[in-house]
Amino acid sequence: MNSLQPFHRSLGDSGLRISPLGLGTVKFGRNQGVKYPASFELPDDRQALDILAQAQELGINLLDTAPAYGSSEERLGELLKNQRKQWIICTKVGEEFEEGKSYFDFSAAHTLLSVERSLRRLKTDYLDLVLVHSDGNDLSVLNEGVYPTLAKLKQAGVIRAFGFSGKTTEGGIGALEQGDCAMVTYNLHEQRELPVLDYALSHNKGILVKKALASGHICLQDEDPLLASLKLIYSHPAVASAIIGTINPAHLRENVATALRVLQPSEASACHAS
Ligand code: NAP
Repeated sequence: MNSLQPFHRSLGDSGLRISPLGLGTVKFGRNQGVKYPASFELPDDRQALDILAQAQELGINLLDTAPAYGSSEERLGELLKNQRKQWIICTKVGEEFEEGKSYFDFSAAHTLLSVERSLRRLKTDYLDLVLVHSDGNDLSVLNEGVYPTLAKLKQAGVIRAFGFSGKTTEGGIGALEQGDCAMVTYNLHEQRELPVLDYALSHNKGILVKKALASGHICLQDEDPLLASLKLIYSHPAVASAIIGTINPAHLRENVATALRVLQPSEASACHAS
C-alpha cells in the first residue's frame, strides 16, 4: 500500500479528518526571508500542480498555507479550482509579509479583513482551519482581538475550526483551552512544547507539527533522519499530522513512504515479533 488514506485521523474534537502528513506550502509562494538550508526558485504552475496531484494520489488531504507565505494562498486558489472539496485547507492570520519584511496585527478588525482576503485568494466560501500566526509573544497575542474573532467566525460557519501556531508552552496550552488546535514545533532538535502535546491528548484537542524536519536542517545529518523524525513525532498519540514542506516530488514520495513505514507495522517486523 502506498497511500495514507487509511491513516486519516481526527484533529482532536474539531470534526476535521486529516492525513497524518500535511503539505506545507511556504515554498509555493515565498523564497525570501526563509531559513531553509539552500536557496530555491518558486515552482512554476505545472510543477506546483504536479506536486498537488502527487500529494493527493498519496493520500494527503491537508494543505498548510498563510498570508505570510508570499503568493502561496493566491496560487493555491488558482491551482485548486474545481477541487476545493477534496482538500482540508489550513491558513493563518496575524502575520503579514511585505517587501521582504514581516509585521504583525492581531486586532479583531485585521482578523476579519485577513480571513475575508484568504477566502477571496483561495477562491472558496469557507476555510477548514485558521491558525493565529503568532510572533512568539503568545500570551499577549491571546489577549488581543484575534482569538474571540475566530471563535465568532466559527460560530458563523465561515471557518470550521481555529487554533494557534505559537512558540511557547504557555501559549499552546492557553490556545487549546479556548480553541481546537495547536501547531507546535516538535522535532529531533526541539521538543520544548511537549507539554502542549500532553495537554492536547488529555483534552482531546488537535496537534499539528510544524518544522518536522527543522526546516530541512535535520536532513543534513547522516543516519536516516526522516525515519527518526517521523518515529519521534508519531510516537506521541496527540499528533494528528506532521506538516512537511516540499516542492520536490522525490522527497514527497519518500516522506509518505517513510510515514507509512512508521504507521503500519511491516510484514518483516510482524514476523519478527511473532
Ligand atoms: P520542514 O517541513 O521541517 O522542512 C522543509 C524543508 O525540508 C524543505 O526545504 C524541503 O526541501 C526539505 N525536505 C522535505 N522533505 C525532505 C526529504 N525527504 N529529504 C530532504 N529534504 C526534505 O520545514 P518548514 O517548511 O519550515 O515547515 C513545514 C511547514 O510548516 C511549512 O511549509 C508551513 O506550512 C508550516 N510552518 C508554519 C510556521 C508557523 O505557523 N509559524 C512556521 C514554520 C512552518 P525540498 O523542497 O527540496 O524537499
